Amino acid sequence: KQPVAVIGAGIGGIAAAVRLAATGHKVTVFEGRDSFGGKMHQFDLPGGYRFDAGPSLFTLPQLVDELFRLAERDPKDYFRYERLDPITQYFFADGTRLTAWADEDKFAHEVEQKLQVPAAEVRRFLHGARRAYEATASTFLHKSLHRPQSYLSRDTLRAVAEMPRLGLLNSMHRRHQRAFPQDARLVQLFDRFATYNGSDPYQAPATLSMIPHLEHGIGAFYPEGGIYSIASSLVQLAEELGVEFRYNEPVEEIITAGGRVTGVRTAQDIYDFTEVVSNMDVVPTYRRLLPKQPAPERTLGQPRSSSALIFYWGIGREFAELGVHNIFFSADYRREFEAIFQQKTVADDVTVYVNITSKKTPTDAPNGHENWFVMVNVPHDEGQDWAALTQHTRAAVLRRLNQALGIDVETLIRAERVWTPPGIAADTSSQGGALYGSSSNTMMAAFLRHPNFSRKLEGLYFCGGSVHPGGGIPLCLLSAKITADLINNS
Ligand code: FAD
Repeated sequence: KQPVAVIGAGIGGIAAAVRLAATGHKVTVFEGRDSFGGKMHQFDLPGGYRFDAGPSLFTLPQLVDELFRLAERDPKDYFRYERLDPITQYFFADGTRLTAWADEDKFAHEVEQKLQVPAAEVRRFLHGARRAYEATASTFLHKSLHRPQSYLSRDTLRAVAEMPRLGLLNSMHRRHQRAFPQDARLVQLFDRFATYNGSDPYQAPATLSMIPHLEHGIGAFYPEGGIYSIASSLVQLAEELGVEFRYNEPVEEIITAGGRVTGVRTAQDIYDFTEVVSNMDVVPTYRRLLPKQPAPERTLGQPRSSSALIFYWGIGREFAELGVHNIFFSADYRREFEAIFQQKTVADDVTVYVNITSKKTPTDAPNGHENWFVMVNVPHDEGQDWAALTQHTRAAVLRRLNQALGIDVETLIRAERVWTPPGIAADTSSQGGALYGSSSNTMMAAFLRHPNFSRKLEGLYFCGGSVHPGGGIPLCLLSAKITADLINNS
């Protein structure tokens, strides 16, 4: 089997390295920074607070287990997790509070009690999400959409047959309004799932209404020690399988000759490889590493997903009413998304997400304190004045939290760090700091993502959040599977 170079030790690159090493390839991972994880890194703030920098919600943990099993290991020896219950605490702008319980029936009853929407309607909606997910996941998420043989299976025919029912021509928001005409708060709750891949519920197709099934049907999970342990346990496995990680060694060029890749160049050396996997965002892969090659401009020009402004706060108090995931909704959701996707700015009234891992991992904050990861969805970077927008957003966040919690939150902040879209772009080489590559705001978005292989250069492959099937931990893990399968079957 041919040796393979992987560019980038994000979760997609690590998973691809594991899969390739487990199937007999010698794998070298080149990482530009001094450690692995990419968006999934961790850091500490003075005073004893630990933070996961990026992802906080974990679904489909079986995709991680699968990697350990592939290497004939027991996943539990490396990586443990629990199903979260409750999943999320919701705080609506009108003062209503709602708990999303893991059990679908219990959640439906909570909705009936708090929002007066019949439990049966909630169950029917979640059943529809399950059905849509089961009919389409295998076609849209588990295979390359860009190889003719992917279209020749029964699964694909089933997915195509399901299309009209999925309401491709409706937006997600319209679908939720029709499902729950009596309560705008429940519509807002389900609309929020568009942000799970950086999209706009007022534009994204109703097919994305299946996303709640991941959380409510299959479950939201918390890895022991926090999200970072997904990356660290997989790196441990990769190293045991003989994968070599070369840190502080960014790839500067993918070398090509006669229509195929022949190696990679770094500041240290030139390395010969006939198979190269880029886990770097696909846009800078073409622009910086392959400047002389014709780039697939239409694909690279697809609108980016949203980004985020994150305030990491060490908080000098505990809040019994908060859980691991907490959402504080704004009063005008449509305005928020118009600001992000049309005006490319941040609204005055924002929805705030607070993730607190010290609820589950007490060592993440000192006794009696909490570590708050406070995130607002914002546009990707197009040269906005981020210093001014950060100040504006911080004030909006504090207004929202103070109102909901009835306390002056700013007086409790003991340590602080901020991550902005340009910061995310600089630290992870993501185009514009987009969290999930291109957005899924149109019906065709799934087909317009870059394939997991190059159509022009033999031996060049892609995995990670900027290519098929998309961003987020589960999809990055699936992209690694598709890529490794393509290499192994080439
Ligand atoms: P990335 O994490 O993008 O890493 C790419 C790696 O490549 C980096 O380590 C970078 O240094 C390296 N690199 C780049 N260029 C080079 C080069 N030339 N040479 C060598 N190395 C290079 N997902 C979820 O599932 N749930 C969530 O709750 C969630 N929330 C998020 C919140 C935030 C704030 C962020 C930023 C992301 C969030 N995501 C979430 C998305 C998720 O984190 C990403 O989709 C995923 O981690 C991306 O992984 P990746 O494989 O694409 O690689």
